[in-house]
Formats: sequence, structure tokens, C-alpha cells
Amino acid sequence: MTRAPRFCDDACGRVFLAFAARAQKTRKGSPGFGGESISLRVSILASGSSGNCTLLETSRTRLLVDAGLGKRETLRRLAALAHSVDRLDGIVISHEHTDHIGGLAALLAAWRTTVYLTAETHAETLRFLPERHARRFERVEFIQAGRGFCIGDIEVAPFRIPHDAIDPLGFTFRAAGVKLALVTDLGYMPELVKQHLRDCDGLVLESNHDVEMLKVGPYPWHVKQRVMSRTGHLSNESVSAFLADPEGFDARPRYLVLAHLSENNNNPDVARICAEEALGRRPSEFAFRGELQIASQHEPLVPIQL
Ligand SMILES: [Zn+2]
Ligand SMILES: [Zn+2]
Repeated sequence: MTRAPRFCDDACGRVFLAFAARAQKTRKGSPGFGGESISLRVSILASGSSGNCTLLETSRTRLLVDAGLGKRETLRRLAALAHSVDRLDGIVISHEHTDHIGGLAALLAAWRTTVYLTAETHAETLRFLPERHARRFERVEFIQAGRGFCIGDIEVAPFRIPHDAIDPLGFTFRAAGVKLALVTDLGYMPELVKQHLRDCDGLVLESNHDVEMLKVGPYPWHVKQRVMSRTGHLSNESVSAFLADPEGFDARPRYLVLAHLSENNNNPDVARICAEEALGRRPSEFAFRGELQIASQHEPLVPIQL
């Protein structure tokens, strides 16, 4: 079954705004699934070219962004965070590359939930799935860049990013008065993307490769060209240029997470040093005072509480 999602320019948006205003008036957060108090919790289960998956939770809503890990690995990583997820309110897909959808069919067998993706990404995804797996897409809601929608009490704003997929998206998520941006798999940072990254409490941003490491690294030349192209992946150098520029990066996030690091052409220390050096170049009145973290391919990041 496919149907149009509930867009946030309709009643859902008004409900969300009322909810956000109420949440801000009182304490942030309210009793969660397990009785705990959370506003928006971000658990990056995996990030990189071998698989991407992030769990977002509020007190009422749980969703995954991308499904690039197998079912067993997804469950193992949730267990490592002391989580057992008995139900999901949705899986949001950024684009059809295997590291973002490779585990989707398996996860749909575990959780019968709605998949949110664009019509183009849906068609492209089905092209590569065996018939028995395609049948698991029982509930699909088509989304599109520039049209916000809601999943439970999380407001999702998808926007277009430059990447060599059929219809790739970056996202911002708002809940209980906080905002998270999650943007990986983009060749460069257009102005529109930079605008979406403003006023965030949390920013998860690709820092894929070090240009020099890529140039001397093991990839064939045509792959190097693809990665470096304007529809490839964001380099440490591009991230540095963004982070150092007060006109681009507003330094508002309490958490800045570098993500989708290449295992061949980058490493966490290089990415961190690059970003710290760039942040250090900012004028003191625009200093970044948040926490810098690096997402891993192999282990989940300690959950971030926004
Ligand atoms: Zn990717
Ligand atoms: Zn990709």
C-alpha cells in the first residue's frame, strides 16, 4: 500500500507546533516508552560506506534513518545501547545506495513499519530486490524534497543534496523544541544545504575523505574521480571550509558529529584534527563551544540527548 505522507504544512504541523510550544513551556521531554524523560535522542548505530543506520527517539516516537545494516547487526548494536525496540514508527530512507538500504528488507521482516522515501528512490530500490523481498514493502509513504512531514511527534524536513543517486535527500528533524540535521553523501555544500543546517542543536555531517589520502590511496582512478566529484562525497577539506566560516556554520550545535568517514581514505584522528583546526580559525565571538564527536562504522556512538 502506498499513500501520500502527512505534510507538515497541514494540521499535523499545527499539532506539532502546539506540542513544541507546550514542551518548551514546561521542562523539555516527558516520560518515555520506559518511563524515562527524553526530548530527542540520537543513536548513530553505524556510519560509513559499509552501512548507515541511526535511531531517533522521542518520548512517543521511534524511527530509523536509513537501514544499511543487516537485521542481526542492527539488533546487536541496539542491544549494545541497552535497547530493545519492540516497535518502530517508521524508517526514513535518504537514497538507494546499498550502504543505506542494504538491510531494509530484513528489517521490514522484523518490524512491520512504514518506509518513507521518494517515489524515484522507491522504484530504484525495488529494481534490485528479489520479488519475495519487494513484497515486504507493505506500507510506503512517498516523500519529496522541500515538503516537510511528521512521524509521530517528529517533524521531518527533507531537502535535496548533490549525490550520484536517483533522488538523494538530507534531513532535519524537529521535536520538543530541538533540531537535528543529518546530512551525508553529498559532493559539496550548496547554499540551500547550509541554510538547512542553521539553528541546529545537533549536526551530523559527512566528513568522508582526506583529499591527499584519497589521491594516493588504493581506489582505481575512476572511483577517485567519482568520490571527489560534485555528486560524490564531502571531503575533510570541504567540511573545514564550512566549519571555519561564520557565514556558513553558525556554531549553534551542542553536538557536532563527523560521519560517513571512509575507512581507506580517512581516519578518525585526521578528520578530528582537520575539524578542530578549522573551528580554531573562527573569530572568538563566533566560537564553537559544543562537543565534537566522530561516528564509527563498527560501533554505535553513545546516544546524544538533545
Ligand atoms: Zn553512503
Ligand atoms: Zn550514497
